[in-house]
Amino acid sequence: MARQGFRWSARRLIGVLAAACLAIAALIWLIGRVCPRTAPPAETTAGPAADHYAEERANMVKFQLMGRDITDKDVLAAMERVPRHEFVPEEYRSQAYADHPLPIGYGQTISQPYIVALMTQLLELRPTDKVLEIGTGSGYQAAILAELCKEVYTVEIIKELAEQAEKRLKRLGYTNVHVKHGDGYYGWEEHAPFDAIIVTAAPDHIPPPLIAQLKDGGRMVIPVGPPGGYQTLWLVKKEGEKIITRNITGVIFVPLTGGHEMGGREQ
Ligand code: SAH
Repeated sequence: MARQGFRWSARRLIGVLAAACLAIAALIWLIGRVCPRTAPPAETTAGPAADHYAEERANMVKFQLMGRDITDKDVLAAMERVPRHEFVPEEYRSQAYADHPLPIGYGQTISQPYIVALMTQLLELRPTDKVLEIGTGSGYQAAILAELCKEVYTVEIIKELAEQAEKRLKRLGYTNVHVKHGDGYYGWEEHAPFDAIIVTAAPDHIPPPLIAQLKDGGRMVIPVGPPGGYQTLWLVKKEGEKIITRNITGVIFVPLTGGHEMGGREQ
């Protein structure tokens, strides 16, 4: 009897242990599933996720930028600092540091990292500069600019994108970026003139209001060309009455929409 009792309790002990093991395994699985979703953004946490993105960012700088013609040390450092994965929709995060543009909703895109770096390098920014960006989109280009100059003024024609970018930039601690919802064809008169202007959507001609809002000695980088067709990235310099343009390369940008499509009369 006593032996049988012992055997029974041994069996029960094994059963209890097995159940406990299962419960622990289930708990570990559950923590693994839940934690990455509820954890704060990667950049605010030390740990594997932040390390992983930092490594991807370092590789992006090394291979996509230094491996091409990006040589400005400050631009490279900014590209290595700004958490690009924070600017792309959740479902594209794993591709945030890949060598191509990504959708950001409303039919718009965040530019390829190389194009962001190239356009920024062409602006030759100084820490005291005031810069105007047309086409805020995700706010990523604005964040890169904000790392390199004093104030960034950025205009976005899609209200939802303007609001989202403003919130995102605030959350990431950028206090020197000012976002406005409006038609960037007309620039941002109240804060003009600007040391530099960057346009991240393509009009079919250089908007005269942007030339007018550029300081003497100022630089503008702008893609110009038909929607979906061959567009050229231009570097424009204003020297007194003279406007000097340099053809940089062929590019593909989303079109600059807005009032100018109706002949520049709407605002
Ligand atoms: N610089 C952005 C990407 C730009 S995509 C980034 O870093 O994510 C181009 C953006 O230009 C789109 O968000 C589009 O809505 C905006 N845009 C198009 N026409 C515009 C206009 N007339 N004024 C302001 N923004 C415009």
